[in-house]
Amino acid sequence: MKRVKASSVILAGLLASVMSAMPAFGQEAGGMEEAQDVAASQEVVNFDESWQWASSSEIHTGSAVLYRAGGSLEAPGRKNFTVCVNAGHGTAGGEGVQTLSHPDGTPKVTGGTNAEGAVYSTAISSGMTFLDGTPEASANLMTALALKELLLQDGYDVLMIRESDDVQLDNIARTVMANNCADIHVAIHFDSTQSDKGVYFCSVPSDASYRQMEPVASHWQEHMALGQSLIQGLAANGFALFGDGTLEMDLTQTSYSTIPSVDIEVGDGASDHSQEACAARARGLRDGISLYYDSLQTAQ
Ligand SMILES: [Zn+2]
Repeated sequence: MKRVKASSVILAGLLASVMSAMPAFGQEAGGMEEAQDVAASQEVVNFDESWQWASSSEIHTGSAVLYRAGGSLEAPGRKNFTVCVNAGHGTAGGEGVQTLSHPDGTPKVTGGTNAEGAVYSTAISSGMTFLDGTPEASANLMTALALKELLLQDGYDVLMIRESDDVQLDNIARTVMANNCADIHVAIHFDSTQSDKGVYFCSVPSDASYRQMEPVASHWQEHMALGQSLIQGLAANGFALFGDGTLEMDLTQTSYSTIPSVDIEVGDGASDHSQEACAARARGLRDGISLYYDSLQTAQ
């Protein structure tokens, strides 16, 4: 478990009234599985300039929030395991700023939002737009908020990168914050295609030079294992996979991650992104995180 050096504590009390309405912490209330407020304390986490690669971030005046399951470190049922839930996009002005694609200054090995060969990449893009005009960032956020509640119910702590339409944290800032304050990092996205093609995760490119570059070299197998667990969780909840559920992508997130870290694409521009559909995706992600967490316990 990572201990967070929180810059300020804005609320450390139990949400006692909510807690008392629950049958017991760690159980689902009355068989209801839908997202609901659960007992948790919260701390604001600000960007720390001393973190590794912090100086490579261009946008980091925003802050994240760390939710502790159960409301205190002594609460029963806690896993002492922090999931960074990163609702993709949602940083105004992020498209106009560039950051280094890789910590060592080498160029991207695949295309994507940025072209293959790009030494500098967009600090954070604004994301795609659904066929009905909804911005991707909104559906990412709806899914992330539902996932937060499910994870807290299960005893995970949750680092929420974004809980509103805008947080001033670029992709490097989000990633180094997760590196220092969480045990795993799950970034939620919908892809820009418009065919409801299925879910997949951005797998680590098989390019030899990329897999030899730190911190990718030390962590790419963890990223792949987490991604496979997420795909399994989504599939178990009825979501079709795109291909084998993977697509190789050289992402800033992957390139700077020192914890298991995945960009999961839970649909695309033609997919259902209603509240119910996002809640179902959140359940799939929660089940995938549970699979991954259980695999860590088995490995110990
Ligand atoms: Zn996206």
